[in-house]
Amino acid sequence: MVRILIINVPFHGHVNPTIAITKELVDRGYKVTYLISEEFREELVLTGARIILYDYDEKKAMSLKGMKLTMSKIYETALRIGKNYDLIIYEFMFFMGKNLGDTLKKPTIRLISMFAFNKNTFNPKTSDKSSLQLKLIQNKLARKIFTQIIFGKGKVKNNDILAEVLENVPELNIVFTSRKFQTHSEEFQHTRYKFIGPSIIKRTEKNNIPLNKLKEKVIYISLGTLFNKSLNFYKICLKAFSDVDMTILMSIGKNINIKDLGTIPDNFLVYQVVPQLEVLKRTNVFITHGGMNSVNEAIYYGVPVITIPQSADQPAVARRLEELGLGKIINKKNVSVETLKNSLNDVLYNGLYKENMKMMSEDMINCGGYIAATTEIEKYIGLNFSISTKYNTYYT
Ligand code: UDP
Repeated sequence: MVRILIINVPFHGHVNPTIAITKELVDRGYKVTYLISEEFREELVLTGARIILYDYDEKKAMSLKGMKLTMSKIYETALRIGKNYDLIIYEFMFFMGKNLGDTLKKPTIRLISMFAFNKNTFNPKTSDKSSLQLKLIQNKLARKIFTQIIFGKGKVKNNDILAEVLENVPELNIVFTSRKFQTHSEEFQHTRYKFIGPSIIKRTEKNNIPLNKLKEKVIYISLGTLFNKSLNFYKICLKAFSDVDMTILMSIGKNINIKDLGTIPDNFLVYQVVPQLEVLKRTNVFITHGGMNSVNEAIYYGVPVITIPQSADQPAVARRLEELGLGKIINKKNVSVETLKNSLNDVLYNGLYKENMKMMSEDMINCGGYIAATTEIEKYIGLNFSISTKYNTYYT
């Protein structure tokens, strides 16, 4: 049987969509090992995959030094164990995945938990100027320096990270959104890029929310798991919505203490983490940072959004949502009691947003999710491995 090594970076937005695929591969009889950091062990072990860990220091994660260290740890562990596997599946953010596969002479498949990436996806002319990462991507010298610092020699094929992700591309790329939502989708070959939508499966986390006590209308607020540290933002939300006859569910992340918010109005339920999929099923409007997973999940459940992009690819995702009439954007610099109230009134009571979302949701669900993704992986295995490798458990 084909032995599969899955490699990922230690971030929820990149791990979450891969969990269901991992379990499905195990259930279909493949031997799967998942290389990840300790934080995700408990959740991933339930998929039945074998878990191998690399060291990761969350406190240093966002510095260049921390990033370099994490990337090296993942790469070195993968290089050491990779020879024991037949196929390598890696998430986009592990930029060295294709080169690692080539070095080990193993085929690779890439999983993409953001928009599929080409030179037009994040066009500087249309990109939000507040996103430092996107500005850096547009600067060749900055890219080369970044590539040299983070990856050094030999870990990627190109000395420019943009060239690496654009040109050193595996034959199969699985994207966790729909072709309809993807920008410039016609530029991504159907044979090479499979848009399977969000990989939704019942998650294992406990439900800590009194679902039976929710009011008729529910507003859900979350800035995701990485760019979620603005205490001021949450305080403005408390002010803006303290007098509405709706339940406001707010997820503030692990970096902020609930007691630092001060008095919490009766119609608010505040948590550090919520079971987002369960919450979205009951949500009327989602106020989000525009993280790709949150947005794909919102579309899947047909929930109109107000997007307040914080960083990275979020401005591009937010713009796409607005372009398709699925929600509104508030620039993070313009967040106030007034802009929040006005946007909520518009998105909640103008039926068009909900109608558009309903159509997008049907399309997103029809993409097939993790079942379709696993089937694509199996097709790839069928084409690239001999029968005896595919089914060698039958012969032993
Ligand atoms: N999430 C969750 N509970 C929370 C906040 C976030 O389950 O309280 C999940 C959410 O469903 C999504 C992921 O965390 O799958 C966040 O990913 P996204 O790409 O939206 O944002 P990031 O955290 O990477 O900025």
